[in-house]
Amino acid sequence: MSEEIKQAARNAILERGVKLSDIAELVMFLQKDYHPNLTPELCLENVEAVLSKREVQNAILTGIELDRLTEKGVLSEPLLDMLKRDESLYGIDEIISFSIVNIYGSIGFTNYGYVDKLKPGILEKLNDKSTGACHTFLDDLVGAIAAAASSRLAHHAGDKK
Ligand code: MG
Repeated sequence: MSEEIKQAARNAILERGVKLSDIAELVMFLQKDYHPNLTPELCLENVEAVLSKREVQNAILTGIELDRLTEKGVLSEPLLDMLKRDESLYGIDEIISFSIVNIYGSIGFTNYGYVDKLKPGILEKLNDKSTGACHTFLDDLVGAIAAAASSRLAHHAGDKK
């Protein structure tokens, strides 16, 4: 069962057009100034470690399912309209992602806030509302995975010093 959940979460991200290397690029963006020898491989390794956590998989499966159901138009109003418009007062997309941000301690919040504001790389694409796709939950999930992976990297680098 646990392997099935892990694979399902991973597939959900890929099927929604996000590659793990896209998330690793966000980690590079967040951490390159603090770790001069940081490689894309190490960023990816930390993304993989975050994705192996059950609470992360649960958040991914829940959020992406709601994005998909929104695109199909099968949710009830007024929730459907709020999710379609990515209504700024809704906020539950962020709450679900906080369960990911949290896993390596509070420094995750700083990283999450930073990418959420700047929207580099894949986050800019996910926020493009002209495509007709709904990524109300996915953009926060991706930002949160990158933030948690950055925290993990920072903790491990700190342990080595
Ligand atoms: Mg959102």
